[in-house]
Amino acid sequence: MFPLVQHLNLSRSLLFHRSSSLCGNLFAQNVCLNFCCFSKMKVANPLSEVGHFAPTTRLLCGPGPSNAHPRVHAAMALPQLGHMDPEFLAICEDVKKLLRYTWQTEEAFTIPVSGTGSAAWEAAVANLTEPGDVHLVFVNGYFGERHTDMAGRYGAVVKQVRKPYGETFSLQEIEEAISANKPDLIWLCMAETSTGAYQDITGVGKICRQHNCLFLLDTVTSIAALPCNLDENLVDAAYAGGQKCLSCPPGIAPLMLNERALEKLAKREQKDIKVPNWYLDMTMIKRYITAHGGARVYHHTAPISMMYALRESLSILAEETLEGSYKRHKEVSEFFWEKLEEVGLEMLIDDKEKRLPSLHSVKVPEGINAAEVLKNARVNFDVEIGAGLGELAGKIFRVGLMGHNCRKDVALTVISVLLDGLKKQGYVVPAKKA
Ligand SMILES: *Cc1c(COP(=O)(O)O)cnc(C)c1O
Repeated sequence: MFPLVQHLNLSRSLLFHRSSSLCGNLFAQNVCLNFCCFSKMKVANPLSEVGHFAPTTRLLCGPGPSNAHPRVHAAMALPQLGHMDPEFLAICEDVKKLLRYTWQTEEAFTIPVSGTGSAAWEAAVANLTEPGDVHLVFVNGYFGERHTDMAGRYGAVVKQVRKPYGETFSLQEIEEAISANKPDLIWLCMAETSTGAYQDITGVGKICRQHNCLFLLDTVTSIAALPCNLDENLVDAAYAGGQKCLSCPPGIAPLMLNERALEKLAKREQKDIKVPNWYLDMTMIKRYITAHGGARVYHHTAPISMMYALRESLSILAEETLEGSYKRHKEVSEFFWEKLEEVGLEMLIDDKEKRLPSLHSVKVPEGINAAEVLKNARVNFDVEIGAGLGELAGKIFRVGLMGHNCRKDVALTVISVLLDGLKKQGYVVPAKKA
């Protein structure tokens, strides 16, 4: 095996040296240098230790990632174009167009960001926060804590409005907090994946305009599952992720900045306050991702295969239509809740109107060790179900029925698998009420 490895590496270095116009003598020396090093590698070849790469096929029904659609995996296997290739740039334009449909926005700056949902989130924060800006964060779950942490790192003065995990904010509570705190930006999470709570955003955008602040919305677990309607809701900046309800693997994430948000960015450019994050600096990235009248300028290499994945996942969504996707998420959720009830399991959130159709928080019955149930699901059934986070650790199971996985067969599988684990700990399905 070892001589073979040497041989392969050697031919790679030959290729390299041929393409660099080095003279024959130097070329021979380099080959020799490389070759000699091979015999005394500081770090031994780990191939025999790491073995063959063969990940298990799991049904991913936790808070994310969810299973990508098979067509999306197929798209990722297609040969790559270069990131400056006009054909690839045309694909980026298609992705932007499809994203505008998905979010229902006509804003030009609706783009894919390299990275997971948190990268698009950090892009929004890095670009829209000037040191000393007041951010008003509505915290009713884990993700509000994350915005607090993230915005603080960019010099924002963060003010929180807190509610117990699982609760949501009324429009009146939001308005009062904005009036009292006079923020430059508010952050709301439409779908709190840590709790399963749905935050209604109707009317929030209007209040933000009246108080001259930006409205930043987390739509990571709501995109494609619930109507985000960014324009209608006067959202100034939003981000999402590929890996939840878009049936795409993690690694690419939608971001929208509207005119008001871009104005804030332009003002900071005028003041020469650089975006303190090079990789996510939209003042530079816009010269690549938008046809701004000039030539496209290289910033970082676009993740080609992830762009193909998002392109295909958004096509699948457009084929189903948004209305179709919302309807499916709603119907499968209602089916899931009904079947849960039949086996005596309860949801954390009582009010059906305040439950997400994509992430379901199911109460762990009295006396049950939640971690054991989740382990049973993974080990014996290859099903991933999520654990509770923070305040809700050990108290709920988090079931994601997202995108491609949002199907009745998957819902029934999850219930069977949960029941199997519960019964092993003595859980008895209550007798049907008369
Ligand atoms: C998953 C999630 C994120 C973070 O997305 P990553 O892809 O994990 O970076 C942000 N917000 C919400 C509400 C999420 O569910």
